[in-house]
Amino acid sequence: MCSICGHVPCLSRCPNAPDPPAIYTCKVCGESIVSGDDYYKLDGEYYHDDCFEDKAVDILLDQFGAMKSVAEVDQWD
Ligand SMILES: [Zn+2]
Ligand SMILES: [Zn+2]
Repeated sequence: MCSICGHVPCLSRCPNAPDPPAIYTCKVCGESIVSGDDYYKLDGEYYHDDCFEDKAVDILLDQFGAMKSVAEVDQWD
């Protein structure tokens, strides 16, 4: 029996509790996406919802050819 929480297996909030099994791996942070986590899937990669929302613009720029630019009137000499 666990000496901290007194349960077998440990309660999920116990520091001795094993990590829940990873289902996917987040492309942004490299951490596990576990049962109950919200996630995004894009182009075969998985992302925590928070990671994806933080990085969505970078992902579009880096992997999907999005371009950010400043609109300017063409200059004609
Ligand atoms: Zn415990
Ligand atoms: Zn993540």
